[in-house]
Amino acid sequence: MDAFSYHRPTSLDEAVELIAQNGDAKLLAGGHTLIPTMKQSLAAPSALVDLKDITGLRGIELKGDTLHIGAMTTHAAVAASPIVLASIRALATLAGDIGDPHVRNRGTIGGSIANNDPSADYPAACLALDVTVVTTRRRISSDAFFVGMFETALDDDEIIVEVLFPVPIRAGYSKFPHPASRFPLVGVFVSKQADNVRVAVTGAGPGVFRVPQMEDALVKNFAPEALLSVGVSAEGLNSDMHADSAYRAQLVNVMARRAVAAA
Ligand SMILES: Cc1cc2nc3c(=O)[nH]c(=O)nc-3n(C[C@H](O)[C@H](O)[C@H](O)COP(=O)(O)OP(=O)(O)OC[C@H]3O[C@@H](n4cnc5c(N)ncnc54)[C@H](O)[C@@H]3O)c2cc1C
Repeated sequence: MDAFSYHRPTSLDEAVELIAQNGDAKLLAGGHTLIPTMKQSLAAPSALVDLKDITGLRGIELKGDTLHIGAMTTHAAVAASPIVLASIRALATLAGDIGDPHVRNRGTIGGSIANNDPSADYPAACLALDVTVVTTRRRISSDAFFVGMFETALDDDEIIVEVLFPVPIRAGYSKFPHPASRFPLVGVFVSKQADNVRVAVTGAGPGVFRVPQMEDALVKNFAPEALLSVGVSAEGLNSDMHADSAYRAQLVNVMARRAVAAA
């Protein structure tokens, strides 16, 4: 690992200034992606700006029918939150199935969505639940936020402050986890609002994506059997040592039906 300076600001303003002063600085949240990447020399920032001591970045609150989750909130805190369990239980279930206890107690929602790993769990929930990502500069809709593999709409010096989840009428998540890491080979999150349904898939392609044909079918009939005649094709899906594209396409169809059943 290359040498770097370490900073621990106590306010967002200070963090923004530190990022601006150090051109290739990186924000540090739980460190569960960033530190291994630095150990492998895949990233070599000259400075780390640790968000740990910034008050206001951690916490969960329900305001009206919107759930607010601070960027530095850990997966374990989301999984155990009575507020999340009562408002969007599928989100608590998702957070509770990420990795192992160590990962869940260090990893954060902000770090997960900023990283936008094509196999991460949270991007599927955020896209299906149509969140708004609040940053130090602006508010970004979920459809605009997730751009592609490890790529988001964030600028280099932009910090995620919180994620706003509209509380759905129903929601469900189902994933087929890799047995070692627990990352989904395929995960499908389904959410139903009064006038629409959103279906988001992670793990199957180069980035999280929606499935309009499933959404249309579920608007007419929100039941697993509505998906029997609409599936995704294998074209464009990932093929690797864990699963080929045809297998992943089949998993998307099965996980989608299970997610609707869970909802
Ligand atoms: C063994 C193992 C198993 C795992 N299993 C799973 C799994 O099953 N499912 C899953 O989804 N994930 C899994 N993960 C990933 C885990 O969820 C990480 O916590 C997550 O990817 C990154 O979150 P972090 O808080 O550790 O971020 P960090 O590693 O600290 O940061 C990741 C990136 O996000 C940026 N960043 C962090 N916070 C912010 C912010 N507030 N604003 C802007 N940018 C920010 C950083 O600069 C960095 O580029 C696993 C990880 C490990 C090591």
